[in-house]
Amino acid sequence: MFLKGKTALVTGSTSGIGLAYAKALAAEGAQVMINGFGDAAAIETERAALEATSGKALYSDADMTKPDAIHAMVQRCHDELGGPDIVIANAGVQHVEPIDTFPIAKWDQIIAINLSSAFHLMQAAIPLMKANKWGRIISTASAHSKVASPFKSAYVTAKHGIDGLTKTAALETATFGITVNCISPGYVWTPLVENQIPDTMKARNLTREQVINDVLLDGQPTKQFVTAEQVAALAVFLCRDEAAQITGSNYSIDGGWTAE
Ligand code: NAD
Repeated sequence: MFLKGKTALVTGSTSGIGLAYAKALAAEGAQVMINGFGDAAAIETERAALEATSGKALYSDADMTKPDAIHAMVQRCHDELGGPDIVIANAGVQHVEPIDTFPIAKWDQIIAINLSSAFHLMQAAIPLMKANKWGRIISTASAHSKVASPFKSAYVTAKHGIDGLTKTAALETATFGITVNCISPGYVWTPLVENQIPDTMKARNLTREQVINDVLLDGQPTKQFVTAEQVAALAVFLCRDEAAQITGSNYSIDGGWTAE
């Protein structure tokens, strides 16, 4: 329970990897604020379970495309829970289509949610962390922060941007007890991956099984999906005192994908 007394705010944590972060941080004693969209009753069940694990837990419905809402979410966390000591920029969406026909609205949405929201989160949280002389900022990047795949122009661009933002924020906060890192998973079995299967089938003219085996797992030498819990365990490690000198790093957890 090394995070007792700390608070953590995780964006996009009503599902998938974000929810796994929230559970893993709460299991170490952190009070958490979750965020994201979804079924209200299901979100309340998750919030209550987190509260039972580590004390008061909050839910924010802030839309990661809206800078003002992101600032208000951080302020509410500060007012009602304290901190935030740990922030994880995790909310993300995907759209799979060739550049030729890629909808402009989709490009703008993906850049806003997957990249700009991390900047707004940092802008709101860094002054509070500086005042506490301690902070952990983590973003969920992707193997696509290091390499590209066709038909994912906005996503690949946003994730490469997270890599640069992480390095810049790490340099700016290095003397304040704050570390800034990102985690780059390969394919993790979550709704985000499930939802892109139909578009990938269409874009590449493949069956569902072909998409899973020949596209998703093709690039992952272990031939296995990463689990959300494995990603969350790495984030928990980055919150430890032993990780105090790890900053500006981009950690792959991708079954060997980007080693090729
Ligand atoms: P997911 O679809 O399970 O979760 C996405 C979360 O983001 C949900 O909680 C959703 O409600 C939230 N969200 C979406 N739009 C939002 C908005 N406008 N405002 C606030 N919240 C919003 O997906 P996931 O796979 O858990 O993805 C989480 C992160 O991990 C993303 O940044 C994604 O790019 C990254 N990632 C996923 C994989 C993978 O294979 N699943 C691999 C590498 C990186």
